Amino acid sequence: MTTAPITALITHADCLNHVTPEGHPERVARLEHVLHALEPLELKRVTAPMAAEDDILRIHPAAYLAELRRASPAEGWAQIDGDTFLSPGSLDAAFRAAGAVVRGVDMVLGGEVQNAFAAVRPPGHHAETDTAMGFCLFGNAALAAKHALDHHGLSRVAVVDFDVHHGNGTQDLLWDEPRALVITSQQMPLWPGSGRADEDGAHGQILNLPLPPESGRAEIQAAYEGQAFPRLRAFRPELIIISAGFDAHQDDPLANLNWNTADFAWLTAQLCALAAELCGGRIVSTLEGGYDLNALAAAARAHVEELIRAPA
Ligand SMILES: [Zn+2]
Repeated sequence: MTTAPITALITHADCLNHVTPEGHPERVARLEHVLHALEPLELKRVTAPMAAEDDILRIHPAAYLAELRRASPAEGWAQIDGDTFLSPGSLDAAFRAAGAVVRGVDMVLGGEVQNAFAAVRPPGHHAETDTAMGFCLFGNAALAAKHALDHHGLSRVAVVDFDVHHGNGTQDLLWDEPRALVITSQQMPLWPGSGRADEDGAHGQILNLPLPPESGRAEIQAAYEGQAFPRLRAFRPELIIISAGFDAHQDDPLANLNWNTADFAWLTAQLCALAAELCGGRIVSTLEGGYDLNALAAAARAHVEELIRAPA
């Protein structure tokens, strides 16, 4: 029996036009490797629209957007943070990345697909309200949550961030949002330094899960089964958004956790099962980090394969 794909893959060639200087880890080849790894899979392939300016303004002030536009270079690069650069194509890429998660939310809540993966760059989870940082310009995951809450009228949305770095931007953007449960696991100590367990949001709705260096499956399971999953069940989200960074992989050059491809598959499958139990399987996942090209491609593929086989 042939059935329509339950998973959307949302991307845009503009995301390959965000060019970083030679040697920068967040590079064009990352997305090329991810897309190549996903080529054989049965997915509903969707071209990401540009986010509307009003979408961006749900999470960032107009002055921040104006400053990014002013800084955008006609050629070469503009450096806007210690490790965040704008090339001439970067803003369009960022608008496509934000547009991809908005489209993902629209498709999943509209019942067109059960879940969606936005294969985009620049990533988003380090971008704070009025500060670009850590390779990130717009807070894509927080935007997805706000779009689901404010545009679609949901009452409860959860964001789960398993990137190895703390989702400080998502935490900042949703700090005072009682309708959003934010769960983020990260190696600690590690850049950006935030993400302690006592950072819990204005309404106690943020759950930080710091993991010691070299953590592997046992620590992941303890953190997620012991803390994250019970919180998700208690919160009863109507949609789960995933900040899918794959830099907790043991081969990643920017961090020191010991996850492997099977760990990303396990965690994704658990989240899919929870989504089936809690919210009709509705998940919107967006690419964050992951800097070893082969590890990134394999882990991203395993993640999307679990989305494809997710229970309804
Ligand atoms: Zn990261």
